[in-house]
Amino acid sequence: MAKLYFNYSTMNAGKSTVLLQASHNYRERGMQTYLMTAAIDGRAGAGRIASRIGISEHADTFTPEDDVFAMIRSRLDKGSVACVFIDEAQFLSEAQVWQLARAVDDLDVPVLAYGLRVDFQGKLFPGSATLLALADEMREVRTICECGRKATMVIRRDETGKAITEGAQVQIGGNETYVSLCRKHWREAVGD
Ligand SMILES: [Zn+2]
Repeated sequence: MAKLYFNYSTMNAGKSTVLLQASHNYRERGMQTYLMTAAIDGRAGAGRIASRIGISEHADTFTPEDDVFAMIRSRLDKGSVACVFIDEAQFLSEAQVWQLARAVDDLDVPVLAYGLRVDFQGKLFPGSATLLALADEMREVRTICECGRKATMVIRRDETGKAITEGAQVQIGGNETYVSLCRKHWREAVGD
């Protein structure tokens, strides 16, 4: 029985690196994988999953309008796939996570989704909330705060380094940077 997996983390935990390594392990054994990532700038078509340590792979992109079940089924029609990998899974809609669950159940293909759990305001992304509800198995990709504790939160900083506490959940093309912190230091940074 195939399963739906959710590997969650905060920013800069290296989840894309973990994803690409896991996909590589299949391919090394002669098995095919199917890689998908979010078209966060709105452009569909060919995309890449890139890790901060310099490796990258081709991936198909999905927009909020895409039927990801149909995308997976169409890929399976072209040849067998040992595993589907999805990066930026926080950007999936609730309906798309259900489509992934149907792919797992009805097409019998394992789906490994990798994504951020919470945004800079400490709120669940819709895709992550639905994955937390529906996934068969969950695993945390861990990273640490500057104090050495596990980082579970992220702050959005402006050019001057000040934490931003308001704004859209998804910000594209700005000058903001993101820093992962433990909850205590996140609360200090946002003035709680
Ligand atoms: Zn800390």
